[in-house]
Amino acid sequence: ARIIEVLSEPYLIQERTISISASIGIAVAEGPGFDADLLLKQADLALYQAKGQGRGVCCVFTAAMDEDLRARLALEMDLRKAIEEQQFELSYQPIFDLKSSKLCGFEALLRWHHPERGLVGPAEFVPLAEETRLIVELGEWVIRQACMDAVRLPGDLRIAVNLSPVQLIFGDAVATVRDILAETGLDPARLELEITETALLANDNRNLGTLRSLKELGVRIVLDDFGTGYSSLSHLLSFPFDKIKIDKSFVMASSEDTGARDILRTIASLGRTLKISITAEGVETIEQGEFLRDIACHELQGFYFAKPLNEL
Ligand code: C2E
Ligand code: MG
Ligand code: MG
Repeated sequence: ARIIEVLSEPYLIQERTISISASIGIAVAEGPGFDADLLLKQADLALYQAKGQGRGVCCVFTAAMDEDLRARLALEMDLRKAIEEQQFELSYQPIFDLKSSKLCGFEALLRWHHPERGLVGPAEFVPLAEETRLIVELGEWVIRQACMDAVRLPGDLRIAVNLSPVQLIFGDAVATVRDILAETGLDPARLELEITETALLANDNRNLGTLRSLKELGVRIVLDDFGTGYSSLSHLLSFPFDKIKIDKSFVMASSEDTGARDILRTIASLGRTLKISITAEGVETIEQGEFLRDIACHELQGFYFAKPLNEL
C-alpha cells in the first residue's frame, strides 16, 4: 500500500502535472525449493485480481486463484501440444453478396479438436493463445491453411481470416502474409484480413503502419465487430478500411429493438458516404435479412444462410 501511495503522488514533468496509478499482485515464496516461474504466474494472477477491483489496489495470491491458475496452465499445456500435433481445423462460413444474391466468399473460423474435451470454439482458447503469444504461430497456420484452401476455389471467391492484435504487435505479419501469398499463389485481392478495433488502440501508430504495409500487398483490410468495444469513428479516419462488419449483436437485437434498427441504418449510410463496403453478420432470420437488404448492406453472413462448413 505504501508503494502504491508513493507512486500515485503527482509528478511534475515539463510544467505539467502527471498522475499515474499502480496495481500490485503479491505472491509469497514458501520454502527454499520454490519455482520462480510459478511464483511470477501467481503474482500475475493476483495482479489481474487487483486490476479487476479498480485502480490502486493490491492483492495477495490465494488458493482459489490457484485453481484458476491450474486450469489455465493445463489449457496452456494442451494448447502447446495441440499446435505440435495439429489438432486444429478451419470451418468456413459462406458470405453472400446482396445485389447479385451470389456467394462472394467465406470466413475462416478456427476450431480445436481437443482429444478429451471434443470440439472447442475460439472464444475458449483464443484469449489464452493471445496471452501466451501462441496465437502468432497458430495464426500463421490459419492464414496458410486458409490461403491453400482458397486457391482451389473457383472464380474470384474471397477468403477472410481473423487477425489478432497480438499477431500485429509480436508477429511479423507483413512478411508472413507476403510469404504465404507467394507460396500458395493466391491472388492478394482475394484475401481479407479481419481485425477488431482493439488492434487500433494499442501501441500508438505502429499497428496502423503494419496495416498500411499489409494493404500495400494488395490484401483487403476489414474492421470486424464494428459497433462494440471502443467504437470510435476516428478509427474510420485513421485507416482506409475496405470493409466494415457490423457486429452481430445489432443484427440480433434488430428483430425487437427499433434503436438497433436505427443504428444499422445509420452504419449502412455511413458506409455509402465513406464508400466502404458493409457486411452484416449473425443474420439468423429472414426478417433480419430483408431489413438489411432494404437498408442496402452489401454482404450478409449468418446461420440463416449457412452455418460454418467443415470443409470448402
Ligand atoms: P468473428 O470473427 O466475429 O466471427 C463470427 C462468429 O459468429 C463466429 O463464431 C461464427 O460462427 C458466429 N456466427 C456466424 N453466424 C452466426 C449467426 O447467425 N448467429 C450466431 N449466434 N453466431 C453466428 P466463432 O467461430 O465461435 O468465432 C468467434 C470469434 O473467435 C470470431 O468472431 C473471431 O473473433 C475469433 N476467431 C475465430 N477464428 C479465429 C482465428 O483464426 N484467429 C483469431 N485470432 N480469432 C479467431
Ligand atoms: Mg471475423
Ligand atoms: Mg465479428
